[in-house]
Amino acid sequence: MQKVLWSLVALFLFSCENTPKKQGQTVSTRDRINQEKSSDADMEAKISDLLGQMTLEEKIGQMMQINNSQYAQAESLDAYYGAPPDVQVSIDTTKLTALLTEYHIGSFLNGIAIPAEAWYDYSKLLQEINMKHSRLKIPIIYGIDHMHGANYLENSTIFPHSINIAATFDTSFSSSEGNIVGLETADLGHHWIFCPVVDLGKNPIWPRFYETYGEDPYLSGAMGRAYVEALQNNPATAPYKQAATAKHFIGYSDPKNGWDRTPAEISDQSLQELFLPPFQELVDAGIKSFMINGGEVNGVPVHASQELLTGLLRDQMGFKGVVVTDWEDVIRLHSTHKVAKDMKEATYKAVMAGIDMSMTPYTTDFFGALKELVEEGTIPMERIDLSVSRILRLKFDLGLFYNPYPRNDRFDLIRKDEHVESALNAARESIVLVKNNNVLPLSKGTRIIVAGLNANSKMGLCGGWTLRWIPTEEGIFPEYMPTFFDALQQEFGQNNVTLASAENLLQRSRNAGAIVLAVGERPYSETPGNITDLSLDKGQMALVDLAISTGKPVILVMIAGRPRLVTPALRSVQAFIWAGLPGFEGGTALAEILSGKVNPSGKMPFSYPAQPNHWYPYNHKNMEQFFDHPDTVNTIAGFGHGLSYTSFSYSNLRLDKDELSGPETITARVTVTNTGSIAGKESVLWFIKDDVGNITRPVKSLRHFEKRMVQPNESVEFTFTITPEEDLTYPDKNGNKILEPGSFQVMVDTLSNSFNYN
Ligand code: BGC
Repeated sequence: MQKVLWSLVALFLFSCENTPKKQGQTVSTRDRINQEKSSDADMEAKISDLLGQMTLEEKIGQMMQINNSQYAQAESLDAYYGAPPDVQVSIDTTKLTALLTEYHIGSFLNGIAIPAEAWYDYSKLLQEINMKHSRLKIPIIYGIDHMHGANYLENSTIFPHSINIAATFDTSFSSSEGNIVGLETADLGHHWIFCPVVDLGKNPIWPRFYETYGEDPYLSGAMGRAYVEALQNNPATAPYKQAATAKHFIGYSDPKNGWDRTPAEISDQSLQELFLPPFQELVDAGIKSFMINGGEVNGVPVHASQELLTGLLRDQMGFKGVVVTDWEDVIRLHSTHKVAKDMKEATYKAVMAGIDMSMTPYTTDFFGALKELVEEGTIPMERIDLSVSRILRLKFDLGLFYNPYPRNDRFDLIRKDEHVESALNAARESIVLVKNNNVLPLSKGTRIIVAGLNANSKMGLCGGWTLRWIPTEEGIFPEYMPTFFDALQQEFGQNNVTLASAENLLQRSRNAGAIVLAVGERPYSETPGNITDLSLDKGQMALVDLAISTGKPVILVMIAGRPRLVTPALRSVQAFIWAGLPGFEGGTALAEILSGKVNPSGKMPFSYPAQPNHWYPYNHKNMEQFFDHPDTVNTIAGFGHGLSYTSFSYSNLRLDKDELSGPETITARVTVTNTGSIAGKESVLWFIKDDVGNITRPVKSLRHFEKRMVQPNESVEFTFTITPEEDLTYPDKNGNKILEPGSFQVMVDTLSNSFNYN
């Protein structure tokens, strides 16, 4: 019987092998089956076989990642900085050949938004040239920053940034994003996606705040996990697989001075309790790579910290995949941090700390330095073999040895209607209605004046990492993407919506029913986003004051990567909306919320500060409120705040027991009733409070959330099963889990109930 089965399979394979292939399509059924058949043991045997054949130079080349500008034709060299639309990205084969033959480079990175066809040609040529020169036929792995959808692909689906995804409090949006990035880019030779960022968004002035999932470790871990699982295990991208990257390990997001890549001072306790858990969640989800924080933590640059890169990441957290440096960060150990006297010492420190691959984007200095260190016996060959085997394992694991080339017969997967719908739904559910004095939703015939920095801007809705590293020209955005103003016209009728400037606002708003002010920021990424004051700039505040002075209802909309402060104006505006960076579909989502077509359901994934120089997160310590008095308002919108056009009442919080011990669990239930007249989605956020702890405990910690649609007058029961091991423990500063007997509170909305753990 088995024999018959095998001959059928063989016949099937034979017919597939003889089916004419589309141009460049190199994937055969046989490849696929071979790939699936190769067991772990096979793979390990192949890895040791390759290692046995590789020269030291070939091994070092695998440990390097070079920027595409080093082999690109001149025209694309400036690709990041405001490159025009239709920029060509082409390969200078002489330069590339030199990198491959002299340095055996195993990885390249970067891109901008070019058409799928152009990516296909580019990736195919890159791999072909590599395969021609690679003595052992080791494929290139290509890395790229798709940070909110396929942002480096033309006409793709662009999601809201992660801070918005967090505000949906629905991990299915994070999964959709991971799934769609895979469907739109896996065929193009984009093997290694440098996302997600699970750095905690604790410091609102930090310019990479919008790349995070906000201030809570549990939320960040849950969103990150959903993205990673969807991206890495996507059967629909077969035969290709992609690797996700946990960024940027660890402590990057809370620098003392608030600026990018500057020093952080984080206690071991906070590191273990707050910063580590989302990264651990990604390790547990099977993430294949980690990228390292380019800053320092407690006086040690993370790239030189054996304690963090080996002791914490490998030994404690159990990560087995590839660790890549961030941009130039080996070089910076010498050039900026000055913990190494030269490149050679920098290389020694980083490699011995635990990095596997060096993103030394513009130079090959790492090669000479590492070679010397190994040849003189300072770094043992076993250390090199360890990193190279991890890199080869990643390449095997992604199937690159079997399917190294891109394919061009599934471009119809890009920006499919259902993908756009998914990004639009994510945007709709990510926008937070912070204040509403019954002015919203606006009725259909309302005459609206719209003004402000981001009223008619596409790039303003998208922020950094969109089409370019930092988009600076509206002209690079597609025609079909509506601005907020375009979308308002679409929603309320062209004649009802008028754009105004500071000069003509007074005159234009004379007959208006409402003024919509879209304030905020223009795109930035990383260091260029450093600022010295979280307050909205004077020019924009003057416009807000001018609008208020008209006496018309003002709807203030914040479109920005950070919570820019508008506190003085909040009392006088009728509504305030935090829109974050909602992406390509953000204009439409906002307009639909203003009209009431969409009932807002986003909730704040961070505490929106009220003051520029004083803030604390929702999960602060008791003593942080020590001096609070009624005049000191910490936030204008606390973590989890978000209004709806309907109202929800929480009642009957009950526990199935109030004493537990050992591994027993408790089930908490609460009833949520829609007491308004329209349907709405409600995210129920469950918190636990440990009343007394030997190490000071947060006033509360998020442990579970769930979002569901509730119809008018409907009552829905939400449940949370409390598991001591997961929900009642906390780590000490060495990462040992502590579970202390005593009383705990379970909290939801304004309700709470207590129970004892014995
Ligand atoms: C950023 C990373 C990014 C890398 C590659 C760095 O400057 O910090 O987040 O993945 O560049 O573009």
